[in-house]
Amino acid sequence: MKVVTRFAPSPTGYIHIGNVRSAIYPYLLAKQNAGKMILRIEDTDRERYIEGATELIEDTLEWLGLNWDEGPIVGGPHAPYFQSERKDIYHEYARKLIASGRAYADPTPPEQIEKYRQECNEKKVPFLYRKFRPDETPEWEPGIPLRFKAEPKDHEWHDEVMGDMHAGPEVQDDIILIKKDGFPTYNFAHIVDDAEMGVTHVMRGVEYLSSTPNYLALYDALGLERPKLVSLPHILAPQGNKKLGKRDGAKSVTEYRDDGVLAEAMLNYLACLGWNDGTEQEIYTKDELIKDFSLDRIQNSGARYDETKLLWYSGQWIRKIFDEQGVDALYERTMGFWPEVADNYNDNYKCKVLSIIYDRLKTLSDLREMTTYFFAEPEIDLDMLLQNKFLRKLSEAELESLLKTTITELANLKDWDANSLQDTLNHLLESTGKKPAVLFSLIRLAVSFASFSPALNLTLEVLGREKSLARLNAVATAI
Ligand code: GLU
Repeated sequence: MKVVTRFAPSPTGYIHIGNVRSAIYPYLLAKQNAGKMILRIEDTDRERYIEGATELIEDTLEWLGLNWDEGPIVGGPHAPYFQSERKDIYHEYARKLIASGRAYADPTPPEQIEKYRQECNEKKVPFLYRKFRPDETPEWEPGIPLRFKAEPKDHEWHDEVMGDMHAGPEVQDDIILIKKDGFPTYNFAHIVDDAEMGVTHVMRGVEYLSSTPNYLALYDALGLERPKLVSLPHILAPQGNKKLGKRDGAKSVTEYRDDGVLAEAMLNYLACLGWNDGTEQEIYTKDELIKDFSLDRIQNSGARYDETKLLWYSGQWIRKIFDEQGVDALYERTMGFWPEVADNYNDNYKCKVLSIIYDRLKTLSDLREMTTYFFAEPEIDLDMLLQNKFLRKLSEAELESLLKTTITELANLKDWDANSLQDTLNHLLESTGKKPAVLFSLIRLAVSFASFSPALNLTLEVLGREKSLARLNAVATAI
C-alpha cells in the first residue's frame, strides 16, 4: 500500500508551535514509505478566513523543509487543493447521501435551533439534534443547510496512537454537512477529500477524536474505506494542563526563524516533542527522523512545550553545522543577524568572529548582542571595571600598572596569533603573580566592556594588534 498523508490546515492565521507537528509527522511517515504528503487548504469557514494565511503556511513548511508532493504551488492529480474550489465535489457526494436517504435539507431557522439547545440545557440533557429532526423536509438546494441522518450505533475502531476505541450511539448526531452558504463543514469536506485524494493515514490533533464516531458513520454511509486514524496528542502550554494555543502566547513558527533559530533545530525539537525512538538520542537530522520515525512510538499523552529546550536544540544545531559543514556554511545562515555596526566589515573578518563565538550562540540573533565590540569601539565604563568581582579588591594604581605591563609585553609580540598570544598571557600570569580570573578579566573588560567574550587569546587575535593595544591604552589612561 502506498502511504498518502496530508496536512490540512485552515488558513485562519499563522502556524504556531502547537499545531505544526500535524505537518511534521505526516511528512515523516510519507517520506519513510516513499509515499506522498498532500497539502490541502481547508478554507471553507469563510468567517475565519484570513487573507495571506495560506502564504504563511506555505512559508512555514518550506522553511522547515517539509516539502509537500501535491497541493498549492506544486499542483497534482487531485487539484484543486483549496476546499473553497471543490464545492461541486462536495455537492456530488451530498447528493449521493440524499439519494440513499442519509441526508436531509433542514430549513429550521437558527433561532429555533438555539431554543432546542436551551431546552436541553435546562433539562440538563445532552443536546442531540436528531431528537428534533423535522418531520417534513424540503428538497435540498444550495442555500438550505444539509444534515446527515444519523443511524446511531456502536462503533469500534483502532487509533494508531490511542489504541482500540469504542463509542456508543449516544455520541452520534445529525451533523451539518453543507452550510447555508453552500460550503461544506469540516466534518463532511475532509471525509470527501481524504477519500478523493487517496489518503491512507489521517493524522491530526486529538481534538477530533470525540467526533470520530460521526466520521465513521459517514464513511459507512458513503461506502468509503476507512483510512488509518492517527490522533496526535496536544502540545501543552508551559504552565497548567492546557493545550498550547495562540492565547497562551504560542509564537508563530516563523517568528523563531526571524529570531535566528535554525530550521533543523526547530524540526528536531518538535519531532521529538511527544515522540522518541526508544534510545537516548536527541539530535536528529531530517533524514534520520525519516528513517527512525514510527507511529507506535508517538506518546499518547500531551507533551509540554519548553522554550529553553528548543533553544538548547538551536545551540546544538549551530555547533553541528559549524563542526560538520564548516564556518562558511554557518556564516551563510547568519545574514541579517549581525549588529548594524558590522555592515562595514568584510565577510572574512565576520567569519573569524563567528568561528570564535559560534559555540556560545543559542540563536543566530545572539550575534547582535555578543559581537558588537568586534566592530565598534566600546564605550569605556570604569564602573564596570572597578566593580568587577575579581577586580574590586585592586587599587586603581594597581590596575593601571597591570594594564601597562600587559601593553608592554603584548606590544613586543612578533606574531599576533592565538598561540603566541596565549604564551604571552601565560607569561604575564607568572610575571605579575595574578590569578587568571583577575588578569584576564581585566584585559577582557578593557578590550570589550562586554559581560562575555570568547577565549581571551582568540578575542585579541581577531581584534588585531592595533585595536587591542589602543583599547588597553585608552583604559590605562582613563583609570
Ligand atoms: N482544518 C483542520 C484544522 O486546521 C484540520 C484537521 C485535519 O487535519 O483534518 O484544524
